[in-house]
Amino acid sequence: MLSRRTFALAGVSAAALLAALRLSTQGAAESAAAKKFEVTRTDEEWKKILTPEQYYVLRKHGTERAFTSPLDKLYEPGTYHCAGCDLPLFSSTTKYNSGTGWPSFYAPLENAIGTSVDRSFLMVRTEVHCRRCGGHLGHVFDDGPKPTGLRYCMNGVALKFVPDKKSS
Ligand code: FE
Repeated sequence: MLSRRTFALAGVSAAALLAALRLSTQGAAESAAAKKFEVTRTDEEWKKILTPEQYYVLRKHGTERAFTSPLDKLYEPGTYHCAGCDLPLFSSTTKYNSGTGWPSFYAPLENAIGTSVDRSFLMVRTEVHCRRCGGHLGHVFDDGPKPTGLRYCMNGVALKFVPDKKSS
């Protein structure tokens, strides 16, 4: 019973992973399993530059409590950067209200994220991280809206919102 359920979840996640890979590595023969990141810091260095909540999510694969991020219901025009290394990750144009309590997007920016297989909590999920510093951002699921059908379920604490400059 449990194994059948786990297997079914594995199938769903594998499909999401394939879809995500197709999107994020278009034209690039790059492995999502690559473990070397452009930005690397020691644990102690990360602790110095991140808040305890950011450190817990980005570096320890933690998850913030649902409905706690001010970014969840934010729909202003702008870009969501990695809270660890400032790499632009998501545009507000792909943000939507998933109702989950976590900031959700249907697509990342080009060459912004990497994915890995997450087998924690008796599930197989597709983990999403910053491609530059490896910081854990959240997971991607295949129940998102058009045009991708993907739901990038992100921890708001792992993101930093940078509003578009208003032309005055
Ligand atoms: Fe980063």
